[in-house]
Amino acid sequence: MSRPTTLLVAVAVLAVGLGAPAAAGPQIPGIPKSKQLTDLVKRADQLRDLVITEEEEIKLGAGVSDRVRERYGVVQDAAVHRYVTLVGTLLVKKSTRPNLPFRFIVLDTDGVNAFAAPGGYIHITRGALGLMSSEAELAGVLAHEISHVTEKHTIGAIQKNKMIQIGAEESITKNPELWGRLVDVTSDLVMAGFGRGEEMESDRDGLAMAEAAGYAPAGLGEFLKRLSDRNQNSSGKQGLFASHPEMKERLATLDKQIKARTYASTAVLAERYRANISYTAKPVTEIATVEAGSAGLAGSTAKPAEEPKKKGFGLSTLIKPGGSEKKSAEVTGSAASRGVDTERNAKGGPVKTMVAVKVSAAELEAFRKEGNLKA
Ligand SMILES: [Zn+2]
Repeated sequence: MSRPTTLLVAVAVLAVGLGAPAAAGPQIPGIPKSKQLTDLVKRADQLRDLVITEEEEIKLGAGVSDRVRERYGVVQDAAVHRYVTLVGTLLVKKSTRPNLPFRFIVLDTDGVNAFAAPGGYIHITRGALGLMSSEAELAGVLAHEISHVTEKHTIGAIQKNKMIQIGAEESITKNPELWGRLVDVTSDLVMAGFGRGEEMESDRDGLAMAEAAGYAPAGLGEFLKRLSDRNQNSSGKQGLFASHPEMKERLATLDKQIKARTYASTAVLAERYRANISYTAKPVTEIATVEAGSAGLAGSTAKPAEEPKKKGFGLSTLIKPGGSEKKSAEVTGSAASRGVDTERNAKGGPVKTMVAVKVSAAELEAFRKEGNLKA
């Protein structure tokens, strides 16, 4: 959920399909300056910023979701997917894009994370579900992720930073190479998370969305606080959540917004949550990770995958003979303090297949009524 701005710079700018580079730059001897200017304008006309239709957005999201599932695997449990889909679908109805076909995918990893891909592909990890204690917390996190989609934060980043530009006559979907690179770039962005402004916007929108659905608005903040406590000994950024000063500011802002808007919704639904979700959260030091280089989604940037290994295992030779379990934990801790992102580098599950869930209007309505949620 937090994107370092340097990543945007690091992602290659792709100018595709136009053959020879433009005659830009300083005056070229022998050609009148006015002629060069004309050429420049022509060149600018040939390039257009990426415009993505809703249909393309959904297709792009499907491509990104493929990469996310390939990396983390999918929990093959229809009941869990059904529950998350019911909560998510109630929230989508209160969003600004209620007709977008959202999909909710539970990733098979202990890392605590969530990824919103364009077009309505919302991913949440088993580790995140394990750390939550109520449906209001789940709703808070899902609403935040849904808002990244409805506000087109990823699409906006691609356009704003001109990561992909195409010729005026070209179709983004009909050029397989161009499309592949677009999926690469988008996957990297989704995995890296968003900038501060987008996070704050999604916190605010998500709060309103969860409240409109009838959930106690404190859910997101309570979850973030628990995660922050869990990660207090690691100095690096952890997955979707930023470092501590930023987190403190975030929590304070959430509190302020709840107070200022005198939200009235009260559904917490801790019991229903426990009846549907039985995962438990692992301590950060017990989460198996893979090497940072292999964690990237886009094949273009990822180093060859290495065997998944227990976090800190690679440092075991540094432990003196007779080293206790505690010492091993200390070594693991120091790895975390070097900036290893346990959540993002968490090992994923073996099965990548999406678990399809169909929820009828009647089922959704029964679920809403049972929880005393808003129509
Ligand atoms: Zn976010």
